Amino acid sequence: MPKSAAGPEIERLIQLLARLPGLGPRSARRAALHLIKKREQLMAPLQAALQTAIEKIEVCKSCGNIDTQNPCTVCTDPRRDPSVIIVIADVADLWALERAGVLNARYHVLGGTLSPLDGVGPGELAIDTLVSRAHDPAVKEVILALNATVDGQTTAHYITDLLHDANVATTRLAHGVPVGGELDYLDDGTLMAAMRSRTPL
Ligand code: ZN
Repeated sequence: MPKSAAGPEIERLIQLLARLPGLGPRSARRAALHLIKKREQLMAPLQAALQTAIEKIEVCKSCGNIDTQNPCTVCTDPRRDPSVIIVIADVADLWALERAGVLNARYHVLGGTLSPLDGVGPGELAIDTLVSRAHDPAVKEVILALNATVDGQTTAHYITDLLHDANVATTRLAHGVPVGGELDYLDDGTLMAAMRSRTPL
């Protein structure tokens, strides 16, 4: 067993930090040391922020986003286009689309994608609530912004079938050449998808 340079409390802090995505044991050690050195400026505010998060963050009952109010800020924003729902697998995808300022619409977080190998069926995802939201007469388009993976596309097809009776257009993101991408570097599948999704100039 490796020798420990710090007491059990500090080791516990390091171990907890090491569980965060993107932080290995070495960077967790550096982060812990930084927090300890900046106890007043950083550790105390971080503790307060974490405490508030534990107490106040909820999953939005309408769209599945996380927020300190329920329904969330996005769902209650009157400036959002009520006719479009963007379906994403995860809150991280919602944040990515918001960061890019793609569309001023509302969202629906599925909580994952269908994956028979991992035991994720329709019952594990927020699909029923999406279908009922899509039947709202105000909704005209459901955009399936799911990953361009087998699971993502299987989920998109499954939802498209379910929305057949709803009076909405279902669309999906284009697949193909990334912005700034060079054809020579693309894999065969991406090139094929780009060719199939070609658009008139
Ligand atoms: Zn919401």
